[in-house]
Amino acid sequence: MKRWLSVVLCSILFTILIPSISYGESIKSDMLIAKTPHNWEVSNVDYTKKNVRTHDYKIFDNFIRKTRQCDVDQKIKTVVWYCDLHGETKSATYLLEREHSEQHK
Ligand SMILES: [Zn+2]
Ligand SMILES: [Zn+2]
Repeated sequence: MKRWLSVVLCSILFTILIPSISYGESIKSDMLIAKTPHNWEVSNVDYTKKNVRTHDYKIFDNFIRKTRQCDVDQKIKTVVWYCDLHGETKSATYLLEREHSEQHK
């Protein structure tokens, strides 16, 4: 009878203690991960062009003044980073130089 009681007590203790231990450890490791600095790695780099304006310019073709159109494009660089420690992504956009579609002065 006494042995039976101790077995029951032990199993009760285990069911109470084990979940709380694993719960405590998971919180501890979550806090450790939160404190760990990000391990950002570039996952994607993308270049796009966006038309910002169109302007007219004059040229002389066989001594005749003509008007042509030139597209001004803004080059945009987008970088995406991924942190495998926290499963997070971040991105940044950089405005690069402007490009004129036509050669003119
Ligand atoms: Zn991170
Ligand atoms: Zn231009």
